[in-house]
Amino acid sequence: MVVVTKFGGSSVSCASQFAKVKDIVTSDPNRRIVVTSALGKRDKSDTKITDLLYILHAHLKYSVPYEDIWKMLYDRFVGVQNELGINYDIKQDLDALYKELNKNISQDYLVSRGEYLTAKLLSSYLDYKFVDAKNLLIFNFDGKMDEIQTERRVKQAFAEYGKIVVPGFYGSYPNETVHLLSRGGSDVTGSILAKCINASLYENWTDVSGILAADPRIVDKPKAIKEITYSELRELSYMGASVLHEETVFPVQQLNIPINLKNTNEPNHPGTLIKNICEDESSIITGIAGKKDFLSFNISKDHMSNEVGFLRKALSVFEKYNVSIEHVPSGIDSFSVVVAESNVEKVKYEVVTELKNVLDANVSVESNIALVAIVGRNMAKHSGVCAKIFQTLGGEGINIKLLAQGPEELNIIIGVDQNDYEKTIKAIYRDLIK
Ligand code: ASP
Repeated sequence: MVVVTKFGGSSVSCASQFAKVKDIVTSDPNRRIVVTSALGKRDKSDTKITDLLYILHAHLKYSVPYEDIWKMLYDRFVGVQNELGINYDIKQDLDALYKELNKNISQDYLVSRGEYLTAKLLSSYLDYKFVDAKNLLIFNFDGKMDEIQTERRVKQAFAEYGKIVVPGFYGSYPNETVHLLSRGGSDVTGSILAKCINASLYENWTDVSGILAADPRIVDKPKAIKEITYSELRELSYMGASVLHEETVFPVQQLNIPINLKNTNEPNHPGTLIKNICEDESSIITGIAGKKDFLSFNISKDHMSNEVGFLRKALSVFEKYNVSIEHVPSGIDSFSVVVAESNVEKVKYEVVTELKNVLDANVSVESNIALVAIVGRNMAKHSGVCAKIFQTLGGEGINIKLLAQGPEELNIIIGVDQNDYEKTIKAIYRDLIK
């Protein structure tokens, strides 16, 4: 059994967090591949090392004095090394990096040093072999991963060293320059490594005890989800629940490797298990998420239902303007096209004019729509879920503007006025999830 264990920035923010990481890693001999983010925030007002590195690069780019920022970075790394009392001479690596700063250093390379140096500290502290992600995760120049090369290299490094620490968030191009993933990308590094060695489990350690069933900024102390399928997670993440980097699931899903989200500060809490099939049927709704700022293009025309190709013509206008469509709820002689406001902002008036010309129909635009997704794999097995939602929202005096359900019955989407957004989430959580 091999477990890939990834720690987020808050799990390695200071020496005492490193100690927790060591306890976790050593308490299970299967935790043989460790992936780390860069030193994160020690408290709310603190700054992540990654953010400091981005700021440092901006200072270099615009030739602004950068000594103060460099000192902050330097002191944090050296501070952790001193407190941990480890042999790794981080000052030497920091001095070498300092010399490179004025040599047109690339942003990707500089920012990747956060993970690189943190992984070096951790490997020394755990006595695991440090393996540079640059030699493991190989990307083509178009940014797509070279899966064959990557898998070969990961397998080889693991076979050679047995227990390794790998920095997250980056890999390299064929010419060996650093390729940085998008923000939060260490989650993806862990997932790729888990896939390459067909791990039995991918653990993702953060500072929350699993995925919450609702946004804690809206619902007071929402419960953590025990088990969730990859597909449910995709629905919730798509609708705004910030959990893992959205590309995390794909590599491990292919091999059905479960992901366990755990809390470094509460290691005995089971957290959330993400897998292909979940047996737990104790709750009908798994979670609720939502997003604001949608627009609805409402289109109506007498006897529209008799005109073949009407919908295609309308949708091709959105295609022409490269506007991605979220939902198309329909009546008999009317339908609406719901899109994210940010996607259509610049071409809104052109789209309306063209819809009117092409369709010879009435077109109006309604803004300030919020979408709320009620997600649950067990909904398909139960009747009356919609009835409950209607009853709850009716009781609160909330008007449902649109309603959609996918064919796999995993998700019910409701559209409400933006002003009712928080109230909707609170009420559904209270009556259907709690
Ligand atoms: N340190 C990087 C970030 O803050 C990557 C990561 O933590 O996953 O985005």
